[in-house]
Amino acid sequence: MPRNDSEAVAYVGEAISRYGRDVKVVSGRHCYEDFIYNGTTRAVIDMSAMNRVGWDERRPAFVVEAGCENWSVYRALLNAFHRTLPAGSCYSVGAGGHITGGGYGLLSRLRGLVVDHLSAVDIVTWNASSNSAELHHVSASSASDDERDLFWALRGAGCGNFGVILRYYFDDLPEAPEFASIYTLSWDWASIDSAAFADLLAFYAEFVSDMPETEFSLLKLTHVSAGQLGMTVQAVSPEGATLLDHRADVERRYAEARTRFGAIVDHTPLRNPLGGHPGWTTAPVGNESVQHVTYLEALQTLNGSGPNQFGKYKSAYLNKAFPPDQVAAIHRWLRTTPHGVAESDMSQSLLQVDSYGGAVNRVASDATAVPQRDAIMKLQYQTYWLNASRPGEGRRAPYDVQADAHLGWINDFYREVYAEYGGTPDPARDPSGTVAGAYYNYPDSVLGTHAAGDVDHALWLYFLDNFRDNERNLVAVKRRWDPANVFHHAQSIPVV
Ligand SMILES: Cc1cc2nc3c(=O)[nH]c(=O)nc-3n(C[C@H](O)[C@H](O)[C@H](O)COP(=O)(O)OP(=O)(O)OC[C@H]3O[C@@H](n4cnc5c(N)ncnc54)[C@H](O)[C@@H]3O)c2cc1C
Repeated sequence: MPRNDSEAVAYVGEAISRYGRDVKVVSGRHCYEDFIYNGTTRAVIDMSAMNRVGWDERRPAFVVEAGCENWSVYRALLNAFHRTLPAGSCYSVGAGGHITGGGYGLLSRLRGLVVDHLSAVDIVTWNASSNSAELHHVSASSASDDERDLFWALRGAGCGNFGVILRYYFDDLPEAPEFASIYTLSWDWASIDSAAFADLLAFYAEFVSDMPETEFSLLKLTHVSAGQLGMTVQAVSPEGATLLDHRADVERRYAEARTRFGAIVDHTPLRNPLGGHPGWTTAPVGNESVQHVTYLEALQTLNGSGPNQFGKYKSAYLNKAFPPDQVAAIHRWLRTTPHGVAESDMSQSLLQVDSYGGAVNRVASDATAVPQRDAIMKLQYQTYWLNASRPGEGRRAPYDVQADAHLGWINDFYREVYAEYGGTPDPARDPSGTVAGAYYNYPDSVLGTHAAGDVDHALWLYFLDNFRDNERNLVAVKRRWDPANVFHHAQSIPVV
């Protein structure tokens, strides 16, 4: 656990000299896959103790160290500078992996991705010629092409690929909104037949395309066993708006949304928190109203990570409304309980459809490593389960039955939704331009791994032409900065 730059260089050097390629880096420990902790790992560089956030006079720039968690970053930037990042909602996600993997959240329609604001990175890399660890400060204005290319790659593809990131710099950051308003509309599964479900999804696509950039929505298409499904919307105040104007505007938009969604299916008050991220989104008792709060209070309200439990995630981007085949498959799988578990065991499983677009779409697809710049919706398939196993036993008998049921359900669900493109949201097989790959910060080993020989497919879905086709591409950057492939995992960027 390095506490400063010189310790970081020394520890990376010592760990790699001693353990070679079996060294990993960890920050917030929120990785969805076993990229860090697995059977071959022999040393872990843990960034938790490098966790300062604030203003660095020397650069001068805002600085966020890799060991920070979202919540401390939000609080410090907001309370000391009235600034914010368009980062994720869950308070305990670590800056180390989150920022370099892209980073998005409820302000992203207004402010883009976190990497869109990034201006420089401090990173410890491994020099394979001299067998030594080196500290580099890389930015878009670095003197060498190689350093500028590395900075580009770290804006979306840095997770465990090129070295150990110590800190992120931002020359400027967006002003934090003053106020935020949150409302939830929920519907009983019992009143939704397949036609109403299709209408709901069709209208949701219109709703997110038309909404002001100050708004962000999370549609939680929960498994039928949850009893209800719902949509949470956060609307922040535009710069300069008074509380009264903001309130009036949101109340008007809320009334419109109620009327228009209500024409498809009557809403009913939310009876239980809906699962998924932001975890355990809750609403006040008698919640058929808008909650008007400060921006900090909104961050607190939507910040849950949920309890510790097992989970599996898959993602997809959509550039257009849901095609009918996908709607039918989604409806079918949300009503399917896999063999091996009771229906109630599925009550936290869902497909969450976040609004996207806005400022995210005003950046060119090759300006950062994140290429998905035309998407209007970002989908996250999620399933969770609790069992009584001890660490390391979750996939052993008798717990494996439950794990296999959940994993089978989510993998089959996804494969069927994208069946027409070969089972993944592969834009190369979609002449209609509807699907646009997946998100690297939501890694899913089923898409492809080095061990299975199909990692290129996964990396294509995450990075599209930025992976290996564009002139500036991730494979070339990897070859230049980590030719010995010291920093690797099941879905790391290959050297060739
Ligand atoms: C509860 C939960 C909520 C989430 N919500 C959001 C969200 O709202 N928006 C969003 O965009 N994403 C979200 N994510 C995904 C999140 O962005 C990724 O899991 C991210 O990679 C986590 O970073 P970490 O440092 O916490 O994880 P870690 O497990 O520590 O690391 C994740 C990956 O990054 C690498 N890495 C970590 N630190 C460094 C470093 N210092 N230098 C180089 N590589 C490093 C690791 O080796 C690993 O490959 C969420 C995840 C969870 C579990």
